[in-house]
Amino acid sequence: MSIKTYHGIDHHVGGTPLIRLKRLSELTGCEILGKAEFMNPGGSVKDRTALGIITEAEKQGLLKPGGTIVEGTAGNTGIGLTLIGQARGYRSVIIIPETQSPEKITLLRTLGAEVHCVPAKPYSDTGNYNHIARRLAEENGWFWANQFDNTANRLVHYQTTGPEIWRQTRGEVSAFVSAVGTGGTLAGTSIYLKEQNPAIHTVCADPYGAAMWSWFTHGHTDIDDGDSIAEGIGQMRVTSNIEGLNVDKAYRIDDQTALSIIYHLLRDEGLFLGLSSGINIGAAVRHAQEQGPGKTIVTILCDSGHKYQSKLYNRDWLQANDLDPDFTLEKAVG
Ligand code: PMP
Repeated sequence: MSIKTYHGIDHHVGGTPLIRLKRLSELTGCEILGKAEFMNPGGSVKDRTALGIITEAEKQGLLKPGGTIVEGTAGNTGIGLTLIGQARGYRSVIIIPETQSPEKITLLRTLGAEVHCVPAKPYSDTGNYNHIARRLAEENGWFWANQFDNTANRLVHYQTTGPEIWRQTRGEVSAFVSAVGTGGTLAGTSIYLKEQNPAIHTVCADPYGAAMWSWFTHGHTDIDDGDSIAEGIGQMRVTSNIEGLNVDKAYRIDDQTALSIIYHLLRDEGLFLGLSSGINIGAAVRHAQEQGPGKTIVTILCDSGHKYQSKLYNRDWLQANDLDPDFTLEKAVG
């Protein structure tokens, strides 16, 4: 009898299940399906990006054994780069804005990354976390992952997330919905799906205070009113990963709606999610309501609530931010 060969953790990124969101499917008459990206080794959709960027850099000879990866990240990409880096023999240096959840920052240190917490600054400021990462790479001869403008990011979603959704729905997917951080998930996945069937809608979910809704709806990146506490999304510029992407529809989802959705999913369906998942699902529900029953709408469950216990799952913190965990689902998506 031959023994099955097993592989390391870098061979177990992706291949995540598609989970039916029961109550929301019943309410809309559509199949609302969430791709469980929180089940990846580092607990988020960004493990795919990390693996894609590292693999491409190895192919191009930009990363050599014992090399150092540096990246500016809201946390999840850094977690993916650190874990996959360790599996492949690289060291990670992570630059993260100090506004990100303490759980992600602590986790990065625990995993073994060298972490630099920096003040949150806009992209136009030279102190922005991405510019710091780029400068450190230049000064030290390190590899800069550059997730926002390195299109190995969208490529990995084109090669993995898109084909998985196509297979898992047996080609019956009618729309793919995703928020934008770098845009890798939305662009790569939807470009693949459109190639299989041009009738599949590409739908952008945006939090308030970000520019993607405005970009895809009106063709300019004017900043909208409001803001959001969602981490990892809320892009203000057209990244190289977003460049050239056409979307069929964009929706803005407010934090209270997203929060009501993730609290409902925890209490009634045992899904423990972060807020970007709630923004995604809010837009999937809006699209279902607009399109009418009978559609199959797929979105991303980006990461889990474990990373936000001190914020999203802390009543005092929610109250201080004018958010109500007891707001009913029906009131939120009514
Ligand atoms: N949700 C979370 C929690 C994230 O960390 C990210 C990535 N920053 C996203 C969504 C967005 O993914 P993408 O970068 O592929 O647009």
